[in-house]
Amino acid sequence: MTASEPSAPAGGSYWFATGDPGPRRPPLAGTVRADVAIIGGGFTGLWTAIALLDADPSLRVVVLEADRVGSGASGRNGGFCAASLTHGLANGLLHFADEIDELEREGVRNLAELVAFVGAEGIDCELEPTGTLEVATEPWQVDALRDSVELGARHGHALTFLSPDEIQAEVRSPTFLAGVRAGADQCVLLNPAKLAWGLAAAVERRGGTVHEASRVTGLARRAGGVTVRLAGGAAVEATHVVVATSAYSAWLRRLTQLFVPVYDYVLVTARLTPGQRASIGWKGREGLGDAGYQFHYFRLTADDRILWGGYDAIYHPGNRVRPQHDRRPATFDKLAAHFRATFPQLRDVPFTHRWGGAIDTTTRFHVTFGDVLGGRVHYALGYTGLGVGASRWAAGILRDKLLDPRSPRLRMRFVQSRPFPIPPEPVRTPAVELMRRAVIAADEHEGEPGWFLRAMDALGIGFDS
Ligand SMILES: Cc1cc2nc3c(=O)[nH]c(=O)nc-3n(C[C@H](O)[C@H](O)[C@H](O)COP(=O)(O)OP(=O)(O)OC[C@H]3O[C@@H](n4cnc5c(N)ncnc54)[C@H](O)[C@@H]3O)c2cc1C
Repeated sequence: MTASEPSAPAGGSYWFATGDPGPRRPPLAGTVRADVAIIGGGFTGLWTAIALLDADPSLRVVVLEADRVGSGASGRNGGFCAASLTHGLANGLLHFADEIDELEREGVRNLAELVAFVGAEGIDCELEPTGTLEVATEPWQVDALRDSVELGARHGHALTFLSPDEIQAEVRSPTFLAGVRAGADQCVLLNPAKLAWGLAAAVERRGGTVHEASRVTGLARRAGGVTVRLAGGAAVEATHVVVATSAYSAWLRRLTQLFVPVYDYVLVTARLTPGQRASIGWKGREGLGDAGYQFHYFRLTADDRILWGGYDAIYHPGNRVRPQHDRRPATFDKLAAHFRATFPQLRDVPFTHRWGGAIDTTTRFHVTFGDVLGGRVHYALGYTGLGVGASRWAAGILRDKLLDPRSPRLRMRFVQSRPFPIPPEPVRTPAVELMRRAVIAADEHEGEPGWFLRAMDALGIGFDS
């Protein structure tokens, strides 16, 4: 294999299998000095490097990526790039009623800036400003969608309710009972791996350094900074460190109470023939999601395949994130059956790609920030499945922590407070399973949260999105 040949890692994701991550960047060798060492070459790490270098081009910024740029969640996701910073308006209201309007404004501004950045830097990431359609597939979800339109209107969202005929005129499926349209100010679609690779190039254009195959194994405090140790003996003597390792963050024990890595799985079909494409409508190419607690997300790719993911959320005891979990035949079969029920007109279309990836799930379902090692090490993680857009905003917070500690944004409760901690094993596995069963039960009982979800809500745990 040559250095630039796509090696299709990243769990077999369609984005990696069909894109070219470029020549491998050399691993870090020896000991180097940096103003900021960033651990993790996904969206959080790369956007942070860009934000820092845009603010101060003289900074020495080094990004350390254990595998390849984008090989974590950033290169495996559905490519829905949403404005919401809070995993949806309802979840934001649940936890931050006092700040929600500011958070919504920040999110919309962040998405607009992200789109402008992609254009200005010439990053070809197949960005499509389509907006979304959320669909009801059970009668109880129709009322929930109507309520979401009213709620959105109170917070400045221009959402449109679509009747059964109207949603069928958009996308044809026997399971769709109603829908809600949100515009491109709320969500765009893109090819996430191409975005990650484009961001890495943007870091390098700004004078930052990106190392691949550079796994960090530990951090040690030293006078005036932190020593970042890598497998193989290399090291960075850094003044500040940013940890951007998302669901893989168990390497830093202090972070394990903040999140559980939960696997999400995705299928991609073969390219649709013109006849198959015409049979589903979907002329607006919106990103779709259904409105259950356990939901599917689905969209067209640039070459007219359908990406279909979500529903199952699988935790592997002991916070395990391993390549063997990237494939789960039982979930792939379940997703395929759900796809055929949704689009029976596509019953003969095969799936060409199947993969999974770990999601950094917190008890509040949105990014959380913090510092360790005497304030020299900053982290941002916990997007819980909605980090493509929010990671850019989080990068701005990390930049402010390092360069502008008086920034008013740092005083937001959203930034300062922490989610309810998740107990360690052996309690963690049964607790996650209890939550999973409660969510399944809520879907089976017309969206009614049972006693467990209500108790969790009372403790500020869980979500409403
Ligand atoms: C299947 C799936 C579907 C999703 N769909 C969507 C979606 O449609 N829309 C959306 O908004 N969000 C979605 N998400 C979530 C989104 O992808 C993430 O929130 C986002 O990519 C997080 O970016 P990150 O940079 O924080 O983490 P990651 O992209 O996971 O990056 C972390 C990086 O750190 C590296 N790393 C780990 N340990 C070390 C170490 N010790 N040393 C050096 N490097 C290390 C990893 O290799 C990885 O590249 C989805 C996630 C998954 C898994």
